[in-house]
Amino acid sequence: MEMKIGVIKGDGIGPEIVEEAMKVLDRIAEVYGHSISYTQLLMGGVSIDVNGVPLTDETLEEAKGCDAVLMGSIGGDAKTSPWYQLEPSKRPEAGLLALRKGLNLFANLRPAMLYPELKGACPLKEEIADRGFDMMIMRELTGGLYFGKRSTQTENGVTVARDELTYSEDEIRRIARRGFDIAMKRRKKVTSVDKANVLDSSRLWRKVTEEVAADYPEVQLENMLVDNCAMQLVKDPAQFDVILTENMFGDILSDEASMVTGSIGMLPSASLNETKFGLYEPSGGSAPDIAGKGIANPIATILSAAMMLRFSFDLDREADAVEAAVSEVLKEGYRTIDIMSEGMNQIGTKEMGDLISSHIR
Ligand code: NAD
Repeated sequence: MEMKIGVIKGDGIGPEIVEEAMKVLDRIAEVYGHSISYTQLLMGGVSIDVNGVPLTDETLEEAKGCDAVLMGSIGGDAKTSPWYQLEPSKRPEAGLLALRKGLNLFANLRPAMLYPELKGACPLKEEIADRGFDMMIMRELTGGLYFGKRSTQTENGVTVARDELTYSEDEIRRIARRGFDIAMKRRKKVTSVDKANVLDSSRLWRKVTEEVAADYPEVQLENMLVDNCAMQLVKDPAQFDVILTENMFGDILSDEASMVTGSIGMLPSASLNETKFGLYEPSGGSAPDIAGKGIANPIATILSAAMMLRFSFDLDREADAVEAAVSEVLKEGYRTIDIMSEGMNQIGTKEMGDLISSHIR
């Protein structure tokens, strides 16, 4: 297969961790007989330095011309970086929002899984951590409360603030379909999370999700209220496969789920649109505190590349190979500083990338 991959190295540790993910992709291409062409794209602080804006129209067009985009992270230290003297619409993060909007990325996917080797970092009770978990949180990214009308005004001498939560059946249907498609590649269970006992938008969410479920007879659908889901995530996370939910609930639940894994440097993410295109990036930020030191954990970015193979290119076997290589390297006791524990072997960013590549056979 020919893969045209856009690469946004970005700021801080971005270039270091993306280099390692490209190394792993190149190894996959070599072993499985694919060809990859990379297009380097400037976004975030580096783009401000070169172009004066965090994302140019030309870069957005170039990204649209790729099959998928692999990203490191963008942004700098808000207290010291000159990028944060600029008005908010010109700062690094504005580039990422413009990119997501320009590419119509409405579905955000964040896996949260507990590697048996990293169980010690899990803040849950031992008997819960021992059961392990492997879930995928699918969050609607372009609708709901964060994109509704908002206002603050004085009414009869009292300040009143309003935020509108709107979802159309089309917006719900397209993300629900994506969620069920993903479940078909996993353990075939979808937990749709809403607040249907209170909210109209949630009742519509539940109705449309149940309609979509009828087209996927192999997938088990379960509806769960968001307050219950927040509890279940810490009580029995092993029960979840795909969690499908709207924007704000997903924002909160995905952070809760990533915290229970205990290791941010391990968590990949993907943002998808209606086509096979996706933007793949680690869940963490640009970590300016450790940039340039060669110690950042590249695994979240490498696992993001595995998600790209699986979801944009349908190369499940290759994605499995990357994930298996990561597991093997952890089993052998190699750790970057953020996941280091006693008795393990501490290595740097580049060594971790080399080891994972060499385990792809
Ligand atoms: P951060 O995730 O960059 O860092 C939080 C802590 O985690 C730091 O101590 C950092 O050293 C550590 N860390 C993060 N990733 C790591 C890795 N791969 N290996 C080892 N340690 C790692 O969050 P922050 O400090 O709040 O934000 C720093 C910058 O990143 C800000 O400018 C923020 O806006 C930006 N940011 C960007 C994205 C993105 O590009 N999508 C996401 C979040 C934050």
